Amino acid sequence: MTPPIFVSHGSPTLIFDDVPARDFLLQLGQTLPRPKAILVASAHWETPASRVTASPAPQTIHDFGGFAPIMYQQQYPAPGDPALAARVKALLDKAGIPAELDHARGLDHGAWVPLKLSWPGADIPVLQLSLQTHLGPAYHLKLGEALRPLTEEGVLILGSGSLTHDLRSVSWRGPNAEPDWVKSFGDWVNQALIEGRTDDLVNYRKLAPNAARNHPTEEHFLPLFVALGAAGPQPRMELLHTSVTFSVLRMDAFEFAR
Ligand code: ZN
Repeated sequence: MTPPIFVSHGSPTLIFDDVPARDFLLQLGQTLPRPKAILVASAHWETPASRVTASPAPQTIHDFGGFAPIMYQQQYPAPGDPALAARVKALLDKAGIPAELDHARGLDHGAWVPLKLSWPGADIPVLQLSLQTHLGPAYHLKLGEALRPLTEEGVLILGSGSLTHDLRSVSWRGPNAEPDWVKSFGDWVNQALIEGRTDDLVNYRKLAPNAARNHPTEEHFLPLFVALGAAGPQPRMELLHTSVTFSVLRMDAFEFAR
Protein backbone atom coordinates (compact mmCIF):
# COMPACT_ATOMS: atom_id res chain seq x y z
CA MET A 1 0.00 0.00 0.00
CA THR A 2 1.10 3.58 -0.70
CA PRO A 3 -0.03 5.51 2.40
CA PRO A 4 -1.86 8.77 1.61
CA ILE A 5 -0.22 11.95 2.89
CA PHE A 6 -1.43 15.40 3.89
CA VAL A 7 1.00 18.32 3.69
CA SER A 8 0.66 21.99 4.58
CA HIS A 9 2.02 24.07 1.68
CA GLY A 10 2.06 27.51 3.32
CA SER A 11 2.97 30.50 1.20
CA PRO A 12 4.06 29.99 -2.45
CA THR A 13 7.43 31.42 -1.33
CA LEU A 14 7.97 28.23 0.70
CA ILE A 15 9.94 27.16 -2.37
CA PHE A 16 12.67 29.58 -1.18
CA ASP A 17 11.85 30.35 2.48
CA ASP A 18 14.44 29.07 4.94
CA VAL A 19 11.99 27.44 7.35
CA PRO A 20 11.70 23.93 8.87
CA ALA A 21 8.67 23.06 6.69
CA ARG A 22 10.81 23.54 3.57
CA ASP A 23 13.56 21.35 5.04
CA PHE A 24 10.92 18.69 5.72
CA LEU A 25 9.59 18.73 2.16
CA LEU A 26 13.13 18.69 0.73
CA GLN A 27 13.74 15.28 2.30
CA LEU A 28 10.22 13.80 2.00
CA GLY A 29 10.64 12.37 -1.50
CA GLN A 30 13.86 10.61 -0.53
CA THR A 31 12.26 8.89 2.46
CA LEU A 32 9.32 7.41 0.53
CA PRO A 33 9.23 4.58 -2.01
CA ARG A 34 8.93 6.12 -5.46
CA PRO A 35 5.22 6.34 -6.37
CA LYS A 36 3.95 5.33 -9.81
CA ALA A 37 1.96 8.57 -9.97
CA ILE A 38 0.83 11.34 -7.61
CA LEU A 39 -2.79 12.48 -7.33
CA VAL A 40 -2.99 15.85 -5.59
CA ALA A 41 -6.11 17.27 -3.93
CA SER A 42 -5.06 20.93 -3.63
CA ALA A 43 -6.81 23.71 -1.76
CA HIS A 44 -6.34 25.88 -4.83
CA TRP A 45 -8.67 24.09 -7.22
CA GLU A 46 -12.34 24.41 -6.32
CA THR A 47 -15.08 23.52 -8.80
CA PRO A 48 -18.87 23.00 -8.51
CA ALA A 49 -18.47 19.28 -9.32
CA SER A 50 -15.50 16.92 -9.31
CA ARG A 51 -12.85 17.37 -12.00
CA VAL A 52 -9.63 15.50 -12.72
CA THR A 53 -6.72 16.84 -14.77
CA ALA A 54 -6.23 14.77 -17.90
CA SER A 55 -3.59 16.70 -19.86
CA PRO A 56 -0.55 14.62 -20.85
CA ALA A 57 1.66 17.66 -20.12
CA PRO A 58 0.06 19.93 -17.49
CA GLN A 59 1.22 23.56 -17.44
CA THR A 60 2.61 25.15 -14.28
CA ILE A 61 0.03 27.69 -13.04
CA HIS A 62 1.26 30.79 -11.20
CA ASP A 63 -1.96 31.34 -9.29
CA PHE A 64 -0.84 34.15 -7.00
CA GLY A 65 -0.12 37.87 -7.15
CA GLY A 66 2.36 40.38 -5.81
CA PHE A 67 5.42 38.15 -5.53
CA ALA A 68 8.92 38.63 -6.95
CA PRO A 69 9.46 37.84 -10.67
CA ILE A 70 11.38 34.67 -9.87
CA MET A 71 8.17 33.16 -8.48
CA TYR A 72 6.58 33.45 -11.95
CA GLN A 73 9.56 31.73 -13.57
CA GLN A 74 9.10 28.54 -11.55
CA GLN A 75 8.19 25.50 -13.61
CA TYR A 76 7.27 21.95 -12.67
CA PRO A 77 7.17 20.04 -15.96
CA ALA A 78 5.94 16.69 -14.62
CA PRO A 79 3.96 14.63 -17.13
CA GLY A 80 0.27 13.91 -16.67
CA ASP A 81 -1.32 10.48 -17.06
CA PRO A 82 -4.54 10.55 -19.12
CA ALA A 83 -5.15 6.81 -18.62
CA LEU A 84 -4.95 7.18 -14.85
CA ALA A 85 -7.24 10.23 -15.06
CA ALA A 86 -9.83 8.03 -16.76
CA ARG A 87 -9.40 5.44 -13.99
CA VAL A 88 -9.94 8.15 -11.34
CA LYS A 89 -13.09 9.29 -13.10
CA ALA A 90 -14.34 5.69 -13.28
CA LEU A 91 -13.73 5.15 -9.54
CA LEU A 92 -15.58 8.37 -8.68
CA ASP A 93 -18.47 7.56 -11.01
CA LYS A 94 -18.75 4.10 -9.41
CA ALA A 95 -18.98 5.78 -5.98
CA GLY A 96 -21.83 7.99 -7.19
CA ILE A 97 -19.65 11.10 -7.47
CA PRO A 98 -19.98 12.42 -11.01
CA ALA A 99 -16.60 13.59 -12.30
CA GLU A 100 -15.34 15.23 -15.47
CA LEU A 101 -11.93 15.06 -17.10
CA ASP A 102 -10.25 18.45 -17.54
CA HIS A 103 -7.88 18.45 -20.50
CA ALA A 104 -6.78 22.09 -20.10
CA ARG A 105 -6.07 22.56 -16.40
CA GLY A 106 -2.44 22.57 -15.23
CA LEU A 107 -0.83 22.33 -11.80
CA ASP A 108 -1.51 25.07 -9.24
CA HIS A 109 0.93 26.14 -6.55
CA GLY A 110 -0.78 23.95 -3.95
CA ALA A 111 0.52 21.06 -6.03
CA TRP A 112 3.80 22.23 -7.55
CA VAL A 113 5.32 23.96 -4.50
CA PRO A 114 5.48 20.80 -2.35
CA LEU A 115 6.17 18.55 -5.37
CA LYS A 116 9.09 20.65 -6.60
CA LEU A 117 10.67 20.44 -3.15
CA SER A 118 10.04 16.72 -2.62
CA TRP A 119 10.39 15.33 -6.16
CA PRO A 120 12.55 17.94 -7.95
CA GLY A 121 13.12 15.67 -10.95
CA ALA A 122 9.50 16.23 -12.06
CA ASP A 123 9.58 12.77 -13.63
CA ILE A 124 6.62 11.19 -11.81
CA PRO A 125 3.21 11.70 -13.48
CA VAL A 126 1.00 14.15 -11.56
CA LEU A 127 -2.78 14.56 -11.62
CA GLN A 128 -4.96 16.98 -9.71
CA LEU A 129 -8.41 16.42 -8.26
CA SER A 130 -10.63 19.44 -7.56
CA LEU A 131 -12.40 20.22 -4.29
CA GLN A 132 -16.10 20.96 -3.78
CA THR A 133 -15.71 23.19 -0.75
CA HIS A 134 -19.46 23.80 -0.42
CA LEU A 135 -19.98 20.06 0.24
CA GLY A 136 -17.83 19.95 3.40
CA PRO A 137 -15.70 17.33 5.20
CA ALA A 138 -17.98 14.24 4.97
CA TYR A 139 -18.12 14.53 1.17
CA HIS A 140 -14.33 14.86 0.89
CA LEU A 141 -13.90 11.81 3.12
CA LYS A 142 -16.10 9.90 0.61
CA LEU A 143 -14.05 11.30 -2.25
CA GLY A 144 -10.95 9.82 -0.63
CA GLU A 145 -12.70 6.50 0.07
CA ALA A 146 -13.63 6.19 -3.59
CA LEU A 147 -9.96 6.51 -4.53
CA ARG A 148 -8.69 3.92 -2.04
CA PRO A 149 -8.00 1.22 -4.71
CA LEU A 150 -5.34 3.53 -6.16
CA THR A 151 -3.30 3.19 -2.96
CA GLU A 152 -2.89 -0.49 -3.86
CA GLU A 153 -1.64 0.46 -7.33
CA GLY A 154 1.35 2.59 -6.37
CA VAL A 155 -0.45 5.94 -6.57
CA LEU A 156 0.37 8.48 -3.87
CA ILE A 157 -2.74 10.43 -2.85
CA LEU A 158 -1.51 13.77 -1.58
CA GLY A 159 -3.78 16.26 0.18
CA SER A 160 -2.22 19.73 0.03
CA GLY A 161 -3.67 22.44 2.26
CA SER A 162 -2.76 23.94 5.62
CA LEU A 163 -3.46 22.73 9.13
CA THR A 164 -4.36 26.33 10.03
CA HIS A 165 -5.06 29.11 7.53
CA ASP A 166 -6.18 32.49 8.82
CA LEU A 167 -4.42 34.73 6.31
CA ARG A 168 -5.75 37.90 8.00
CA SER A 169 -3.52 37.15 11.00
CA VAL A 170 -0.38 36.23 9.07
CA SER A 171 2.74 38.02 10.25
CA TRP A 172 4.88 38.23 7.07
CA ARG A 173 7.84 39.64 8.96
CA GLY A 174 8.79 36.28 10.30
CA PRO A 175 8.08 33.57 12.77
CA ASN A 176 7.06 34.58 16.25
CA ALA A 177 5.28 32.76 19.02
CA GLU A 178 2.35 30.60 17.91
CA PRO A 179 -0.76 32.08 19.54
CA ASP A 180 -2.96 29.88 21.74
CA TRP A 181 -5.87 29.98 19.30
CA VAL A 182 -3.65 28.39 16.63
CA LYS A 183 -1.91 25.91 18.93
CA SER A 184 -5.14 24.69 20.55
CA PHE A 185 -6.71 23.95 17.16
CA GLY A 186 -3.60 22.30 15.70
CA ASP A 187 -3.13 20.14 18.76
CA TRP A 188 -6.81 19.13 18.81
CA VAL A 189 -6.57 17.91 15.22
CA ASN A 190 -3.38 15.98 15.96
CA GLN A 191 -4.98 14.29 18.96
CA ALA A 192 -8.16 13.40 17.05
CA LEU A 193 -6.06 11.87 14.26
CA ILE A 194 -3.94 9.87 16.72
CA GLU A 195 -7.07 8.53 18.40
CA GLY A 196 -8.80 7.80 15.09
CA ARG A 197 -11.79 10.04 15.92
CA THR A 198 -12.84 10.53 12.30
CA ASP A 199 -16.43 11.47 13.20
CA ASP A 200 -15.15 14.23 15.48
CA LEU A 201 -12.89 15.47 12.70
CA VAL A 202 -15.80 15.58 10.27
CA ASN A 203 -17.61 17.74 12.86
CA TYR A 204 -14.48 19.80 13.62
CA ARG A 205 -16.25 23.13 13.10
CA LYS A 206 -18.47 22.37 16.10
CA LEU A 207 -15.98 20.44 18.23
CA ALA A 208 -12.49 21.85 17.70
CA PRO A 209 -11.39 24.99 19.57
CA ASN A 210 -11.20 28.11 17.38
CA ALA A 211 -12.06 26.12 14.23
CA ALA A 212 -13.72 28.95 12.30
CA ARG A 213 -10.97 31.40 13.23
CA ASN A 214 -8.27 29.06 11.92
CA HIS A 215 -10.29 28.25 8.81
CA PRO A 216 -12.52 31.23 7.91
CA THR A 217 -13.12 29.18 4.74
CA GLU A 218 -12.64 25.42 4.59
CA GLU A 219 -10.66 24.83 1.40
CA HIS A 220 -7.26 24.47 3.09
CA PHE A 221 -8.57 21.91 5.60
CA LEU A 222 -10.58 19.70 3.24
CA PRO A 223 -7.59 18.03 1.50
CA LEU A 224 -6.93 16.36 4.87
CA PHE A 225 -10.20 14.45 4.51
CA VAL A 226 -9.34 13.22 1.01
CA ALA A 227 -6.10 11.71 2.33
CA LEU A 228 -7.82 10.34 5.43
CA GLY A 229 -10.63 8.72 3.41
CA ALA A 230 -8.19 7.15 0.96
CA ALA A 231 -6.35 5.43 3.82
CA GLY A 232 -9.32 3.33 4.92
CA PRO A 233 -11.09 2.93 8.26
CA GLN A 234 -9.04 3.54 11.44
CA PRO A 235 -5.75 4.39 9.73
CA ARG A 236 -2.60 4.71 11.78
CA MET A 237 -1.53 8.35 11.69
CA GLU A 238 2.13 9.20 11.66
CA LEU A 239 3.05 12.83 12.28
CA LEU A 240 5.68 13.52 9.63
CA HIS A 241 6.25 17.16 10.50
CA THR A 242 5.05 20.02 12.69
CA SER A 243 6.12 23.65 12.69
CA VAL A 244 4.59 27.10 12.35
CA THR A 245 5.42 29.83 9.84
CA PHE A 246 4.32 33.48 9.80
CA SER A 247 3.08 33.01 13.37
CA VAL A 248 -0.28 31.45 12.47
CA LEU A 249 0.25 28.90 9.68
CA ARG A 250 0.72 25.43 11.16
CA MET A 251 2.71 23.39 8.65
CA ASP A 252 1.96 19.89 9.94
CA ALA A 253 2.17 16.88 7.64
CA PHE A 254 0.59 13.47 8.24
CA GLU A 255 0.87 10.01 6.75
CA PHE A 256 -2.02 7.56 7.02
CA ALA A 257 -1.15 3.87 6.96
CA ARG A 258 -3.48 0.92 7.30
ZN1 ZN B 1 -2.69 27.61 -0.12
